[in-house]
Amino acid sequence: MYLRLPRTINRARMFCARALSTSPSLYNSLTKSVEPLPPSIDPDTGQRRPLTWYSCGPTVYDDTHLGHARSYVSTDVVRRVMENFFGYHVHYVMGMTDVDDKIVNRSLELGVTASFLARKHEIEFFEDLERLNCCPPNDITRVTEHMSDIVEYIATIMKNNSAYELDDGVYFDVGSLGTQYGAQLGSPDSRRENGGHVEEEEEEEEERSVSGRSGKKRDRRDFALWKKTMVEEGESASEEESGQQAVVAWDSPWGRGRPGWHIECSAMTNTVLGTSFDVHSGGIDLCFPHHCNEIAQANAFNQTDSWVSTFLHTGHLHIDGLKMSKSLKNFITVRQMFAAAVPTEKKEEEEEEEEEEEEEEKEVAALRESLGGVDISVAFRMFVLSHHYRSNITYSLDRMRDASADVRRFTSFLEAMESYAMKERKEMMKEEMKGDEEDGIALLARRKRHHDFFTELRNLTDQRIHDALSHDMNTPGVLVALRHMCTQIRGYMSDSENDKVPSELVLTACGTVLTTMERMGLDLRAGGGSSGVTISAGVSGGGSGGTGGSVDAEMDVARAFAKFRAAVRDAARRKSNPGELFQLCDEVRDVIGPSIGWEFIDTSGDVEIRRR
Ligand SMILES: [Zn+2]
Repeated sequence: MYLRLPRTINRARMFCARALSTSPSLYNSLTKSVEPLPPSIDPDTGQRRPLTWYSCGPTVYDDTHLGHARSYVSTDVVRRVMENFFGYHVHYVMGMTDVDDKIVNRSLELGVTASFLARKHEIEFFEDLERLNCCPPNDITRVTEHMSDIVEYIATIMKNNSAYELDDGVYFDVGSLGTQYGAQLGSPDSRRENGGHVEEEEEEEEERSVSGRSGKKRDRRDFALWKKTMVEEGESASEEESGQQAVVAWDSPWGRGRPGWHIECSAMTNTVLGTSFDVHSGGIDLCFPHHCNEIAQANAFNQTDSWVSTFLHTGHLHIDGLKMSKSLKNFITVRQMFAAAVPTEKKEEEEEEEEEEEEEEKEVAALRESLGGVDISVAFRMFVLSHHYRSNITYSLDRMRDASADVRRFTSFLEAMESYAMKERKEMMKEEMKGDEEDGIALLARRKRHHDFFTELRNLTDQRIHDALSHDMNTPGVLVALRHMCTQIRGYMSDSENDKVPSELVLTACGTVLTTMERMGLDLRAGGGSSGVTISAGVSGGGSGGTGGSVDAEMDVARAFAKFRAAVRDAARRKSNPGELFQLCDEVRDVIGPSIGWEFIDTSGDVEIRRR
């Protein structure tokens, strides 16, 4: 059995899991409370208003790890829900840190240029996001492409008396904001309370804050806006190193150098989104000092305190239960996860190397086993959806096993319902041929009972989904609502009194499951762990267009053939009796053929094929 969504159901899906009209509420880290977002329709103009959103991107010097993956998948879910359920037109901008000390140092180690290293990792980062089914940003800002904006931004902050120059760079003057500094997004203590960790660079920054490279900082909390490129006294820099350091530097009124980490986001958003915007997102570990300092800079630049309306922070991902081998270091990268989940053919030269990695192979086998045939990207998104985006979560084989089982429960429901719908149609056709028509009044009463049950359940499910998503994007609540709907339908259908439920009611319920998941970025048709073929084309809906008629028709035939083949193979494997094979052939003639526009007519010793 495979999952197929007849075209009639595609149309039904357009009307189910309806888009939600009211504005959702989100937890705002600035106010530490759940607050409504501005409406998607501007009340003054009656026009849709864009929701402007900036997300801090990665520092592109290494592979994307699972902590990044969780953060960007969670953010993608929130973004998709805003667009697909609440009708927002989101303008999503991501900032890439493509130059900083880590990138320069790594490029020196590898003997490549900093720009090559950054570009390579940026390309790989977006490939990873695509594999995780994250929508790409509408706009990408790179530090190296905004250097003049950053220099101008710093100059304005200096003009506004919130920055000063020392021998080694330009520093933000925390004291110029009085008690305003750190009033929003807290302190290092609050970061630790939130489960955050202190990045190496921040530790260095803190260290430097105490002593100061020049020892002349006005306040230990002051941070660098511009770092002048200089080989410090007593440091032994090789010719190559000092050459590279000199290349990876830009001119400024304060001498050649590079921007500090925090300034880039404030300056780049000012260029692409203006002096204020709606949503700013990032992992919880960016809360302090990064976002706190971004706010300080923007407030000093704008001379207001209304830079961002809502700060959205995603929780941490911890890794547990996996025995990390040396090659896996202390974290798993997205690439390692995909490589482990998808078997690849061994190349000869790799065999010897792989023999030495038995431990790793065991981990790989355990991950594959835990997936049980479910696509890794689908399983990972289900794992993320089953937790609130702000929760700290733990990645383990057990959690992946749970997520895969959840995916299979939904696909098994969809398969069972599709199978029922085909059977019901077949029986209906038989009855029509025989002329066995039920008494009109009894038929209407029965249909009404079914209709009432399914309509009530659908309304209840829609309401639960709406409530869950409206209140801080509670995706686990959505899964509970869908599971409840599936359980109720299974129970109703298994009750012998409820025979002959019209297939359109059942398939509309399937549409609710598929569309709700699809709107959160989880495609149950793509590698959902069903026993046969999975469908990846020709059934797109929800306004995303679709394939052309002839491609659809070809796909229908291919699916029908693949399904028939799978059923025959299964029968052969079970050594079933010939009667079952005849039954499968009859099903092709009576149900599958007509549903894809073909008629198979048995003639003496042959079969005639006609278009319907
Ligand atoms: Zn940032």
